[in-house]
Amino acid sequence: MNISTQPYSLAKNLSCSNCKQEYSITEINSYATCCNKPLVVDYDLLSAPPKSVLDLTEHTMWRYSVLLPVLSKQNIVSLGEGMTPIHHLNKMAREYGFDKLLMKDESFNPTGSFKARGISMAISKAKELGITKCIVPTAGNAGGALAAYCAKAGIKCTVVMPSQTPAVFKQECELYGADLILVDGLINDCAKKASEINNNNKYFDISTLKEPYRIEGKKTMGYEIAEQLNWQLPDVIIYPAGGGTGLIGIWKAFKEMKEMGWITCPLPRMIAVQSKNCAPILHALNDIENWKTMFTPMATVANGLAVPYPFGMDMMLQVLKESGGTSIAISEADIVSGVKEISKMEGLLISPEGAATWKALLQLRQQKIIAANETVLMLNTGSGYKYIDNLN
Ligand SMILES: *Cc1c(COP(=O)(O)O)cnc(C)c1O
Ligand SMILES: [Zn+2]
Repeated sequence: MNISTQPYSLAKNLSCSNCKQEYSITEINSYATCCNKPLVVDYDLLSAPPKSVLDLTEHTMWRYSVLLPVLSKQNIVSLGEGMTPIHHLNKMAREYGFDKLLMKDESFNPTGSFKARGISMAISKAKELGITKCIVPTAGNAGGALAAYCAKAGIKCTVVMPSQTPAVFKQECELYGADLILVDGLINDCAKKASEINNNNKYFDISTLKEPYRIEGKKTMGYEIAEQLNWQLPDVIIYPAGGGTGLIGIWKAFKEMKEMGWITCPLPRMIAVQSKNCAPILHALNDIENWKTMFTPMATVANGLAVPYPFGMDMMLQVLKESGGTSIAISEADIVSGVKEISKMEGLLISPEGAATWKALLQLRQQKIIAANETVLMLNTGSGYKYIDNLN
């Protein structure tokens, strides 16, 4: 296929996130074997396409198709993901003395989390590349999303999940027709199991950042934040980080928009929030050589944050450094009390991961890392309804 004759997408190629070696976007790739690092999608932005390339009649993340890697519209597998609302948390702002608190609410996505964005993209590309069988290790939400999009695409799906994950995350996979395999341990143990099952490479592995396109789906959050705020950006973005695709993706979107001249404002400081039970980013910020040996990972009620050894660690640290951001870890008790407080104050039953961003904001305000007059945008990455049994 000759990409240059396809006006539908400006995607050019994949490249190694470390050494920039190029890989094809029309062949099946997983990660950059040159450096054992994630691949990223490169676009032809030199032509500086105007904002009018956006498809404003499309009220999903696919309005940004020109800046996404699917080359042919007919391959899109969509359940209506993206274009989620940004709430103004006026009551909480008043109560705690902030000028402007915003929350982008990803609980509106299909299957109740922002995983839908990444998986819609991955499965659309999988369809474009002729893939028929997928497997994913997951902490919960990615499994449900993969099962749903595979059902829609007619792709066979296997999900490997920690056995202690709340029942609803397991039930949705089975209802969407996926094969579900349970493992005692965390997502890294599930990843081991998934590669055992896949030792003959019959499945395509959709693991975070070992698949090049989920990040492009998550990237659309960055485009939406800019468009919804009239091409201005907040001073600070607080993101609950697990594998880090959202953090890396949002930052990639900001840099692409800068390059195209769509935004001229300063870029936000990016804050990565973790659980005290599993905070590899904090350890890596302190000691990039030895972080993997510096903690014993534990499960957390915010199961999306229980990713002890993220494959994209270098890329996350790069975003924190370039943006002038930092990382902070929140206790289990604070995460649960955060969910309850936001439900009562704002009428939003958000995920524990989302609630962790609120507790992070309070602590960073106290440490004077965030000022009361700064515009802060928190990401609620999922619906609290899936976690209700664990919120006691
Ligand atoms: C997966 C997940 C996260 C972490 O997302 P990454 O892209 O892996 O950093 C945060 N919140 C929820 C609800 C999730 O499902
Ligand atoms: Zn490389």
